[in-house]
Amino acid sequence: MKTELMNPSHFLSENVKIIKPSGIRRFFDLASQMENVISLGVGEPDFVTPWNYREASILSLEEGFTAYSPNAGLLELRQEISTYMEQRFSVQYSSKNEIIVTVGASEALDIALRATLNPGEEIIVVEPCFVSYVPIVELAGGKAVTVQALPEYDFKIQPEQIEALITEKTKGIIICSPNNPTGTVLNKQDLEGIAAVALKHNLLVFSDEIYAELSYDEPYTSIASLPEMRDQTIVMNGFSKAFAMTGWRLGFVCGPKEILQAMLKIHQYAIMCAPTMSQFAAIEALKNGHTEMKKMIRSYHSRRNYMVEELNEIGLPCHIPGGAFYVFPNITPTGLTSEEFAEKLLIEQQVAVVPGSVFGASGEGYIRCSYATNIDQLQEAITRIKNFLK
Ligand code: PLP
Repeated sequence: MKTELMNPSHFLSENVKIIKPSGIRRFFDLASQMENVISLGVGEPDFVTPWNYREASILSLEEGFTAYSPNAGLLELRQEISTYMEQRFSVQYSSKNEIIVTVGASEALDIALRATLNPGEEIIVVEPCFVSYVPIVELAGGKAVTVQALPEYDFKIQPEQIEALITEKTKGIIICSPNNPTGTVLNKQDLEGIAAVALKHNLLVFSDEIYAELSYDEPYTSIASLPEMRDQTIVMNGFSKAFAMTGWRLGFVCGPKEILQAMLKIHQYAIMCAPTMSQFAAIEALKNGHTEMKKMIRSYHSRRNYMVEELNEIGLPCHIPGGAFYVFPNITPTGLTSEEFAEKLLIEQQVAVVPGSVFGASGEGYIRCSYATNIDQLQEAITRIKNFLK
């Protein structure tokens, strides 16, 4: 018989108790209570999903396609993804058993880690990085071992830094190119260095390629396309960023069938399938979306150039990020920490940016500004940052 009321937090798992809330959240909460805020905070396109993708989804609803799709996703979509991966990234995946359509790249990463990690195994996470990597490794029962990509190497991780961290428990490494938050793109040569370490030590590479299309200065290379790497890499990608489809919650994951079929077991029990109406939009995006995508890419590219030039001009040194839609200026000349800078800028000038420290220790001294905002707002943001620096 119950004698006293139990505090509901008693029911929480130890795993979830150690997870810290995202550092970005605090700034959004603060910004949402203020007026006239220009947000350079959010990591999502400022474009509405192109009309033809929306229309394809509407049509599917009109035609009554409202049921579950196959667990791995509509076959036609998997076939389109297979063609896309081959034509765009030169890697072959079978639509039959090497591709799963997921609820965003987020789910792809989650099931990839859950399918491969045993308790206590280590995953090397390159910082500064997307805020979910460390918690998602920990939730999968693994241990995240972080390593800092350094500004003197343009935030590119060096192979010897990875090698220095390898223990008998190391299972793999998460890489992200173009990177959130630095915008750094790892070129073929950089990836060859990482691949050599992965092959030598038998590491599984989790390659987050969600920003692959948003690579402005050099042709994009997927690490999976390098010799012998296909079967040692899980590629996560999706429609959120380059296709302007964040709210549709649609991504995909590709890899060797032995791993993908294990991931499918988790996906089928936890998720069942990705939203069917979103999958119809994605088929249209892959079949007929390239002109629209190119337009968006051109627009991000010119905004990137504007932001880098202006930030350098006003005294916040900024390397040239090769991709994604973020700039990562150095704010140490102000003498403030990245948290202090972001908070004061928000309160005094109503510009929301994200402190670099939320992306890991090596992000301290930097702020992340997203330029997926219209150019008038970017110009006004620069004026306000200039006033703030005065
Ligand atoms: N990976 C990175 C590096 C991201 O920046 C994001 C979103 O911001 C995601 C994955 C998640 O993408 P999705 O919307 O496909 O879940």
